[in-house]
Amino acid sequence: MEKVNANACRDVLHDSFDREHLWHPYTSTIDPLPTYKVTDCHGVRLRLADGRELIDGMSSWWCVIHGYNNERLNRAAMEQMGRMSHVMFGGLTHEPAIELGKMLLEVAPPSMHNIFYADSGSVAVEVAMKMAVQASISKSGDHAKTNFVTIRSGYHGDTWNAMSVCDPVTGMHGAFGPALPVRYFAPSPGIKPWEEWDRADFEPLEAIVEAHHKELAALILEPIVQGAGGMRIYHPQYLREARKLCDKYGIYLIFDEIATGFWRTGKMFAWEHAGVEPDIMCVGKGLTGGYLTMSAVLTTAEVADTISRGEAGVMMHGPTFMANPLACAIAIESLRMLNEQDMASRLAHIESEIRRHIAPAASLPGVREVRVIGSIGIIEMKEPVDTAEFQRKCTDRGIWVRPFGRNAYVMPPYIISDDDLKYLIEQTIECLR
Ligand SMILES: *Cc1c(COP(=O)(O)O)cnc(C)c1O
Repeated sequence: MEKVNANACRDVLHDSFDREHLWHPYTSTIDPLPTYKVTDCHGVRLRLADGRELIDGMSSWWCVIHGYNNERLNRAAMEQMGRMSHVMFGGLTHEPAIELGKMLLEVAPPSMHNIFYADSGSVAVEVAMKMAVQASISKSGDHAKTNFVTIRSGYHGDTWNAMSVCDPVTGMHGAFGPALPVRYFAPSPGIKPWEEWDRADFEPLEAIVEAHHKELAALILEPIVQGAGGMRIYHPQYLREARKLCDKYGIYLIFDEIATGFWRTGKMFAWEHAGVEPDIMCVGKGLTGGYLTMSAVLTTAEVADTISRGEAGVMMHGPTFMANPLACAIAIESLRMLNEQDMASRLAHIESEIRRHIAPAASLPGVREVRVIGSIGIIEMKEPVDTAEFQRKCTDRGIWVRPFGRNAYVMPPYIISDDDLKYLIEQTIECLR
């Protein structure tokens, strides 16, 4: 009898159906990592099925920027549902798509002119890569200019082409072998203070582009911060050099701002750190404040019109849920909330608090390096972090942090209080000790 109760009790938190039948991201069905059942969330807190509350240090993978159960976002969703949750975008349009488009162009790099709505970050990357290929073929009349160059330690999503430009080692290339298209990879830029710039950092990429530009449609990068592929922060000068290089050889520059967008690095978008504009830009994750999956690809009139003058004459993509009105309505409200606040000051404050509380981690024996930008605080260990063990400790201490490889990092919702932020970081450090 006692045994049954113990199992039932465990089932409240670690559901046996879930363990037996549901696939979670990157998990084995034979030996899955434990999953914790969440019942509801508010502000920066996740409530687990056993009643415990955890401070969310992950913003549910970068996207819940305003925290959970936000009254204004809830209301925007409810009001839109009363009108229409969805309508096809082929041949129809609607105010939420139009209004969101205007708001995005207001905050995007000035040269952006056309917007393609898509359903997720990975799909946005697929669309961006298709745009670059279609525009390159149209412009050059040359079907050879269809490949891509990128830098190591990148992450651009899990669909086929997105995967092909992820880091070949920390990404999933090994599992798919020759099925993946083969891209060009330059070493990732060094992690150095921004006061120092070493042009040698850029030379390998320059050499690849010089040698292979005739096959290249575009260079794709996560500007300033490489996210899931390595949690690395690199020099803005690298992007300035990249822009010059792309212009010199007539290849497009794609910025994947899916993780960095909407103030995560302390600017609305990370390109602003360098002041160079891409030809094509992807946004996602924080776009709807973490309410619904939605992404957008923005591009210049030059790219859009070049595609439209090409053989196909159209952009060859059109997802079912393109410009979903419910997602658009929530995204509009999320952008309004960002526009109404002094986000630059808010993020500067969060950054200084993270720096202050994370600093002691640098002297722990197992720590290789501590890095901070905007609302991202990274503790890189010398050895990979044991996810299951680390997360058990974290949940016992009332925080939610999911490490990746050697990196344990926090990137909380922007509404986090100073006390919660301090607790989150102190406990993260305790769990790594
Ligand atoms: C998360 C992420 C993606 C993929 O987005 P999904 O919505 O998970 O498909 C692409 N690029 C970057 C930089 C990301 O962080």
